[in-house]
Amino acid sequence: MEIKLYLQRVYEELHAHPELSLEEVWTAGFVADELRGMGFSVSTQVGGHGVVGLLDLGGAGLTLALRCDMDALPITEETGADFASRNPGAMHACGHDSHMAMVLAACRYAAENRGRLRGKLLAIFQPAEEVGAGAKAMLEAGLFRQQKPDRLVAIHNLPGLATGMLGLQSGPLTAYTDRFKVTFCGVGGHGAIPHKTKDPIAMATAGVQNALALTHRRRDPSLPGVLSFGVIQGGTSFNIIPERVTLEGTVRTVQADDRELMIRLLHQAFQAAADLHGGSYQLEYTRGVPAVVNNAGVVQELSGFFASQIPEVPVASEGLASLIGEDVSYFLQEVPGVLLYIGSGREGAVNELHNPRFLVPRETLITGYKALASVIEGYLSKEGGLPGQEE
Ligand SMILES: [Zn+2]
Ligand SMILES: [Zn+2]
Repeated sequence: MEIKLYLQRVYEELHAHPELSLEEVWTAGFVADELRGMGFSVSTQVGGHGVVGLLDLGGAGLTLALRCDMDALPITEETGADFASRNPGAMHACGHDSHMAMVLAACRYAAENRGRLRGKLLAIFQPAEEVGAGAKAMLEAGLFRQQKPDRLVAIHNLPGLATGMLGLQSGPLTAYTDRFKVTFCGVGGHGAIPHKTKDPIAMATAGVQNALALTHRRRDPSLPGVLSFGVIQGGTSFNIIPERVTLEGTVRTVQADDRELMIRLLHQAFQAAADLHGGSYQLEYTRGVPAVVNNAGVVQELSGFFASQIPEVPVASEGLASLIGEDVSYFLQEVPGVLLYIGSGREGAVNELHNPRFLVPRETLITGYKALASVIEGYLSKEGGLPGQEE
């Protein structure tokens, strides 16, 4: 089958069968069958429903890992496509179906061209990306224990980037994605007799103001980062001062020491607010996935492959960073690599991930496939290869 048809068939099949995070059973079976059919040795149930395929191309060479994600979202699809979700309440609205299709097509490329290649190709199909759990689970299951790759290339489509383009930028690309919950505790009482109470609503409002002010004044403003509150809860009636008020929020940073500073600032802000009104606070801070930091050397290598092999594909190299979370960062802490963006934006179409009308354009699949095939050529070709890769 021609590669464009293969991409489209696999994409549509996966799109029609979306599965939520931690439930990727059918998807894992589909992917494993495809890989086996190409001659990969396949491990399943790697950290949940993770699937890992290994193609030993023979000869001394690098081990290149390609990573894609597998899970869908709890969204009811509204695209009207004839390959739309057959699982009510689940939809591939983040394009993970397209990522799997691109990686499978790249695997097929490697299998069909194995005579010209050397080293090893490791295909990582990671479950539970949307809940930030899959990458860590795969590592804990020993993903890199037997086979530690020399390079890792992960992909994600990006609607903010035009279809037909690639996005490759070195340095921080996504954020440390943390959450917190703070409870202010006081003494409740009558709204007309506040001096006999310790008012947690007053503490909460001061706490929000302090926290926003401190993060504006005490952090390095040249660093990307944000603090946002998303929940405030407390009280039962207009004339009752409650006993406690709870706030929840998120902190996003791109450097580990800035994250630690943010945590200290939150404590200071909430402590001062509680002290002001004679109460106390409790902060539960949950560290989420780390920031994706693209390896500058690997960015340079890939840029070279793309320039020489697919010069017709434009590559954006700036303006791609955001403060979202992406758990491939756990892999990138272990292996030099990058998260490569594949443009999926289209004028006149829905250009938002996680939207019930979002579809990855056909052309995006082809661009992503071309990019991955060029990465395979760059790292695994017998003629090519990097300096120091010789026996
Ligand atoms: Zn998503
Ligand atoms: Zn995604």
